[in-house]
Amino acid sequence: MTENTKIPSFDLTRNYARVKEEVNVAVLRVLDTQHFILGPEVEALEKEIAAYLEVKNAVGCASGTDALVLALMALDLKPGDEVITTPFTFFATVSCITRNGATPVFADVDPVTYNIKSEDILAKITPRTRAVLPVHLFGQMCPLEEIKDELKSRGIALIEDCAQAIGAHRMIDGRVARSGSVGDMGCFSFFPTKNLGCYGDGGMVSIADNPEFAQRVKNLRVHGAGKTYFHEEVGINSRLDALQAAILRVRLRHLEGWNEERRIVAERYMTLFAEKGLLELITPPAELAGGRHVYHQYVIRAQRRDELQKFLDERGVTSRVYYPLPLHLQHCFSYLGYAKGDFPVSEMLADEVLALPMFPELLPEEQERVVNEIADFYGVGK
Ligand SMILES: *Cc1c(COP(=O)(O)O)cnc(C)c1O
Repeated sequence: MTENTKIPSFDLTRNYARVKEEVNVAVLRVLDTQHFILGPEVEALEKEIAAYLEVKNAVGCASGTDALVLALMALDLKPGDEVITTPFTFFATVSCITRNGATPVFADVDPVTYNIKSEDILAKITPRTRAVLPVHLFGQMCPLEEIKDELKSRGIALIEDCAQAIGAHRMIDGRVARSGSVGDMGCFSFFPTKNLGCYGDGGMVSIADNPEFAQRVKNLRVHGAGKTYFHEEVGINSRLDALQAAILRVRLRHLEGWNEERRIVAERYMTLFAEKGLLELITPPAELAGGRHVYHQYVIRAQRRDELQKFLDERGVTSRVYYPLPLHLQHCFSYLGYAKGDFPVSEMLADEVLALPMFPELLPEEQERVVNEIADFYGVGK
């Protein structure tokens, strides 16, 4: 590793090198069958994911976005129905609500975990609330145990956006409860850079319990056909490829280890920040008690964020801003009538967050370089 080598945000080629043989065998196995859409590989993956999450069912689909769309379609939302969610997330969390004809109702996030807060969710409930859609942002689960019983008793669905948090968990009633197993349904993305990524697009809906939801999502992903060419309703075309499922089955076996490696990378950042005296100047991400953060992203809060990012870029350190504009301020949602100042924490985070390089294979010496450059920028640690 020379001084000038660029440090990437993530590097999938390093990961592929670790599983190349296994993955190649799986891919060739599928090519031999020439069975490409759904089928036995997808069914096997669905069973394995359901077992991993300890849920009744899992249904593969074409992307994380579609997983969200399908889960909400299964709720039969009507115009005027409200879904409570966060404005500080990836676009798809909110577009799936409006694409289903319902109205997103935002609740602001916590400045420490970046996640939507339980008390704010409960405060936003109205007679029109049909669902709550929390996002386990950057790999940390929201403490859903605080709201799940209340929502259930009021007949409000709980749909988890788990796109960034496969393998994250909370201890609930003395048991490990993984993301996607606490609410009614969980929506997963297998976009290549997610903690469990495939080699294209892919997604999955986990269904904790209700067999009706599982059947609805299964039908909806094949144009609403219970039986081929016989359509009970109008669904969408959102199937998972057998090739992607075969790749995911290999990678799922490594997920726990890779998530542990991400946690080690996170710990190392903390140690380095402390050594350099940076903890006064930046705010590292915090892990909530009672849970396991899987660090899909390692997102700090930094003063003079844009200048810092430019400085790092000049020194060959890649960083990213997730997300620069909260969703209540996006042009396409202006009809909802929100204005700047409505969600001050989300707006502050949009100005301060910076995602540092984070992937299981990130080297200690690379992390040292990242932290040294940050220290250089702030003029400390000399
Ligand atoms: C990635 C992501 C999605 C969408 O997943 P795709 O597979 O890219 O469609 C949804 N929500 C969140 C929070 C995400 O990070």
